[in-house]
Amino acid sequence: MDDRPAPAAEELRKIPKSDRLLAAAEREGLLAQLGHEPVMQEIRALLDAVRNSVRDGGACPAPAAIEARLVGRLEVAARGSLRGVINATGILIHTNLGRSPLSEETIGAMSAIGRGYTNLEYSLGEGRRGDRYGHAADALRRLTGAEDALVVNNNAAAVMLALGALSGDRPADAGGPPEVIISRGQLVEIGGGFRIPDVLRRSGCALVEVGTTNRTYARDYEAAIGPRTAILLSVHRSNFAMSGFVHDAALEELCALGRARGLAVVDDLGSGTLLPTAPFGLGSEPTVPERVAAGADLVTFSGDKLLGGPQAGILVGRREAIARCRSHPLTRALRVDKVTLAGLSATLAHYERGEALAKIPIWRAIALSPEALAERAGRWREALAGLVPGASVREVASAVGGGSLPGVTLPSRALALPLPDPDAVAARLRDGAAPVVARIEEGALLFDPRTVQPGEDESLLGAIRAAVA
Ligand SMILES: *Cc1c(COP(=O)(O)O)cnc(C)c1O
Repeated sequence: MDDRPAPAAEELRKIPKSDRLLAAAEREGLLAQLGHEPVMQEIRALLDAVRNSVRDGGACPAPAAIEARLVGRLEVAARGSLRGVINATGILIHTNLGRSPLSEETIGAMSAIGRGYTNLEYSLGEGRRGDRYGHAADALRRLTGAEDALVVNNNAAAVMLALGALSGDRPADAGGPPEVIISRGQLVEIGGGFRIPDVLRRSGCALVEVGTTNRTYARDYEAAIGPRTAILLSVHRSNFAMSGFVHDAALEELCALGRARGLAVVDDLGSGTLLPTAPFGLGSEPTVPERVAAGADLVTFSGDKLLGGPQAGILVGRREAIARCRSHPLTRALRVDKVTLAGLSATLAHYERGEALAKIPIWRAIALSPEALAERAGRWREALAGLVPGASVREVASAVGGGSLPGVTLPSRALALPLPDPDAVAARLRDGAAPVVARIEEGALLFDPRTVQPGEDESLLGAIRAAVA
């Protein structure tokens, strides 16, 4: 009888103990960095995997190899889940990549206010409770021409709040929820599951669709007004374009109708630019001051799209409409953080000082000329000389993205690397210590300098060398 243990049992005994792996983590400084329990979790997962592969008939790897695998996993964990990424896509407002980078002054203000206590809701003059929502309001009034302003967590929240607050006082005997009238051409999905019809329902309003997909007139809204009508809603088609036989009622017409019939007009502008976009070869996106001047009771927009600041939802409009939003119970649930208010105020200050184009990263990038982009892409090409045969600087068109200026592109220049396996290289670029997101067109990996931040050149070039090699 052969009583030697089966090979699997012998191999299983070779698997190192968790203490030995823990010591390896400590030696590399990863135990101190991550803490005991996260390291143990990785060790247990790794040892389980080794045990399973041995049970399936595999040989136990050498202890040093298992240690190296652990250290690799722990190094990935130590980078953290939320990481900086080099955006080489050329898409300026990329929601998946966190939308706007922030100006130095914005970052400085957020860091200074985050560090200590603040007068967020405290009046220093009177020594008692003050107003959280007053902090950015003055600048927003000056920059948009609106009577008052309110900042909440994001624009989706702002829309919900606007509808909830302005639909509130329909007669209780009206026999149903207050109604919001909207054009069939504006029942849009913004992305991330934000669908205007769903938001309307969630805000306790009923939706009344008017017009057709491509053409809606002021008279369509007028014909739909009934005893329960509370709001005329206009939603900017942020992320798609319609062309051809298209008509929308002008906001001015809706405002005239609202005034005549005692209805509120809410304008969800989405991106909400303070500066005109046309001078940069972009279409003319409606500006916030224009929409306020058209007479909307409330205009809502995002803090982190074309405004170029931190994530926020901004409501501007009539004093009385803003007051109703402020006192609505939902506002407490949507309230904005002190760090955001500090950052938003610093971003708005760039507009007030007339330096938005020079200081706000999104606008600095919009204003870059094709020549400047070609020069930077050319420097990258030279720095990588010999790495990829056929590397060139290519004319490309880059989208603004993030629900802004649909169908509009900026003429850009990108470094193009023709590669036999661009997808594999793109995957390695995303996986690196400095992750890079690039785009692939016609078998070439494209790196658009417009969205690569100043100071990221060396990291980008290092990442490309590592991923191609
Ligand atoms: C982007 C957008 C929203 C959502 O704004 P968030 O700031 O992402 O919440 C809503 N409406 C329109 C028209 C938009 O473009």
